[in-house]
Amino acid sequence: MRVHHLNCGSMHPPMAPELVCHVLVCETPDGLVLVDSGLGRVDFANPKRMGPGRLLTRPERQDKWTAAAQIEAMGHSTDDVKHIVLTHMDFDHIGGIADFPDATIHTTAEEYDWAVVNPDFTSKRRYAQKQWSHGPKIQTHAGPGDTWRFGLAGMEVLPGITYVPMPGHTKGHAAVAVDAGDRGLLVHAGDAVFDGSSFANETPSGTPLTKVGKLRMFEKAMAYDRKKLAVNHATLSRLNGEAGVTVFNAHDKRIFDDIAGA
Ligand SMILES: [Zn+2]
Repeated sequence: MRVHHLNCGSMHPPMAPELVCHVLVCETPDGLVLVDSGLGRVDFANPKRMGPGRLLTRPERQDKWTAAAQIEAMGHSTDDVKHIVLTHMDFDHIGGIADFPDATIHTTAEEYDWAVVNPDFTSKRRYAQKQWSHGPKIQTHAGPGDTWRFGLAGMEVLPGITYVPMPGHTKGHAAVAVDAGDRGLLVHAGDAVFDGSSFANETPSGTPLTKVGKLRMFEKAMAYDRKKLAVNHATLSRLNGEAGVTVFNAHDKRIFDDIAGA
């Protein structure tokens, strides 16, 4: 399937590099499928909806960053988006779902349980509940999944699109693998890694990636389970070394710019 890379949120945390919100638009026989959704029009119109996380990350509130605006600029209608596959439910990943009210929203069962069904003290403060207050159609995927590829477990979400559970950042976080045919396998690692240099020495086109201490600090501060971070980095590093596999994360602008050719 043909896949486009969009930046659906430009965020400017103090004293740290600009962060992007890397979103995929997959052209499938059944319509458009997004992987993550970035920030949306309703967030920008009513910033409190994004919860306290916005004060840390300081997103630019401009329509041009939304998936809805960029999909319309590609000549589609927002109704063409049939599914949105979330890596997790933090505000900067699900804000855009409200712009696609008829799409089916996919999440791991574990993430949905922690955020929505049985929230605890931590998750109640972490997630921005207003972002799903419009009553989206939700489809959950329970793990641990079946044997997928490369010795990892996975849950098929849609044909060619697979959840690879990678908890740590949140309780039910998962990477999303997309089979892009001739372009190989794309692995959207979400927030399983913040600093690209934690899993790769260089971008896909070969630009060296240097260590960004601020991103690593931020990653530790936001982690639900810090002990799992290094395990996920090692898994992503191994995957990235496989022939035909490209791994990228949600927020590292260096990798997004490299892949999207910006
Ligand atoms: Zn994030």
